[in-house]
This record gives sequence, C-alpha cells and structure tokens, in this order.
Amino acid sequence: AKESTAGRLEVYAAHMHATVVRRLELQSELRQALADGDFTLEYQPVVNLETSQVTAVEALVRRRQDGRLIPPDEFIGPAEESGLIVPLGEWILREACQRVAIWRVSDWDIGLAVNLSVKQILSPRFVQTVQDVLDDSGLSADALTLEVDEEVLLENPGEAVERLSELRELGVRLAIDDFGMGYASLAHLRRLRVDEIKIDPSFTRDVGADSTVTLLTHTIIRLGQDLGMQVVAEGIEQPDQLERLRAMGCGYGQGFLMARPMAAEGVESLVGGEANI
Ligand code: C2E
Ligand code: CA
Ligand code: CA
Ligand code: CA
Repeated sequence: AKESTAGRLEVYAAHMHATVVRRLELQSELRQALADGDFTLEYQPVVNLETSQVTAVEALVRRRQDGRLIPPDEFIGPAEESGLIVPLGEWILREACQRVAIWRVSDWDIGLAVNLSVKQILSPRFVQTVQDVLDDSGLSADALTLEVDEEVLLENPGEAVERLSELRELGVRLAIDDFGMGYASLAHLRRLRVDEIKIDPSFTRDVGADSTVTLLTHTIIRLGQDLGMQVVAEGIEQPDQLERLRAMGCGYGQGFLMARPMAAEGVESLVGGEANI
C-alpha cells in the first residue's frame, strides 16, 4: 500500500510538473506572439434596441496561430499570471482607440468598449497610459468605455475603486461587465460611480423561460435606469429574448442575433448603419 501511495504521488508530481512547464511555455510563447504582432482584435457591435442603430463596438482580442484565431479564454489567464497582460492590454487599448478614432473622423458617432483585467488597473502607470493613448489617438475620452468585472472590485477593492475613479476623472466611461454574477453586485454601485452595466448572458439566456430570472433581469434594468446608467444585455441569440428585453425597457443589446464579433473591415461596412434586427 505504501508503495502504491508513493507511486501515485510520483505520477501526481510528474503531472504537476508537466502542467507548470506547459504554463511557462505558453507564457513565453505569448510574449513572443506580442513581439511578432500575432494578436488581433475583433469588434462586436452594441445596438440601441429602440432604434436598431449600432452605437458602439466592443474590442475582443484573439491570437493568430496556424491560420486560426484563438479565443481569449485560452490565453488571458496565463497572460495575467505572467504579467504580460500589462503590455498586451496597452497594445489592445492603443490599437482599438486608433481604429475607432479614424471611424469617428468620418462623422460616425460610434463608441468603443475595451475590457480591462485587474492586473492592468493596479499596474502603476495605468491611468497615465490611458491618457497617453487618448492623446495619441485623438479619441475623445467620452467615446471610450472601460469594462471591468466584479472580480476587480473583490480582489483589491480600495485601490481598484481609487484607480477607477481616477480613470473616470479623465472623462472615460466605466462599465461593470457580467453584472449580476457576483454576490456583491449591488454593493459595488455604492462605492463606485459607473455609467453602464452589462447584464450577464446567463440572465439573457433564460429571460422569458424562467420566471425568477425574468424578474431579476427586469429589476436590474429598472435599477440601472433609476441610477441613470446605460443597460446593455449581453448574449442575445434568440428573437424572443430580444423582444422580452425590449419590452422590459432594456436600452442596449449585444449578441449573435444582431452581430458576431468581426474584423475591423467588417465594422467599416456598417458605418452609420443599422443592425439586422
Ligand atoms: P466578455 O467581456 O463578457 O465578452 C463577451 C464574450 O461573449 C465574447 O467572447 C463574445 O464573443 C461572446 N458573445 C457575444 N455575443 C454572444 C452570444 O450571443 N452568444 C454567445 N454564446 N457568446 C457571445 P470572447 O471574445 O471569446 O471573449 C471572452 C472573454 O475574454 C471576454 O468576455 C473578456 O472577459 C475576455 N476578453 C476578451 N477580450 C479581452 C481584452 O482585450 N482584454 C481582456 N482583459 N479581456 C478580454
Ligand atoms: Ca466585456
Ligand atoms: Ca469580462
Ligand atoms: Ca460580459
């Protein structure tokens, strides 16, 4: 029995070792990918549900590898652990702001949303970086929405709130992403002024089908409105979800029903246009 325990431990240790090695490999691979220009952005339209106009796009990062686009779920975690998220995040912000600033020159009043990770926000020069990127790209601050999820506010609440308030003083908008998933969603709204909440797709999915979810979603929409915030429902895939959300007074939506994330060239073909809903 002793031997087999030792044997199991050995197998376990070997497995751990392989996992650690793989993670380190991935991290240095990602650093190389950034140096080689192998990251790219897709943009997903955000639609005004009343007018069907595209009002903004959310930048979503991908990694190009062997002719495929690798989704962020496969590399954002390792990029955060290794600290690479700081330079990668700066590249994402810069690239997206430059694009959208150009689209806005042709009189298209389109906004940009960029996702932030907590590591970025807590990195020492982040507020200055955002200011520099705005100056360099010429994008007006109020066209930029920075999306953070609630995790940001759980890990290091005092500092994160302070940093986010400084960002808001630059004139950028703040959004809480995946709203409703954290147990403390409501408490955060007391400590931090936000301009927008994005309702998590897990609510959108069951709107109309589950009466508790429907009630919660309606409550979130009204709460947002009462607090003067823009409310965006994410993950809209079905026409009946869209109709329900519209009927509940949800102002904005995002999802495969209206548009999937697309390359910059695809967004250009939408200029001034309406989403297909
Ligand atoms: P998120 O910020 O919640 O982004 C929305 C995700 O939902 C995107 O996945 C988008 O493609 C997907 N989506 C949009 N509409 C629908 C729909 O109707 N149905 C379904 N099933 N999915 C939909 P994506 O691009 O794979 O991104 C996943 C997550 O990775 C993002 O979730 C965000 O947390 C993170 N991420 C993406 N880009 C960045 C970035 O530039 N920086 C950081 N820090 N994180 C990012
Ligand atoms: Ca987001
Ligand atoms: Ca998120
Ligand atoms: Ca989200």
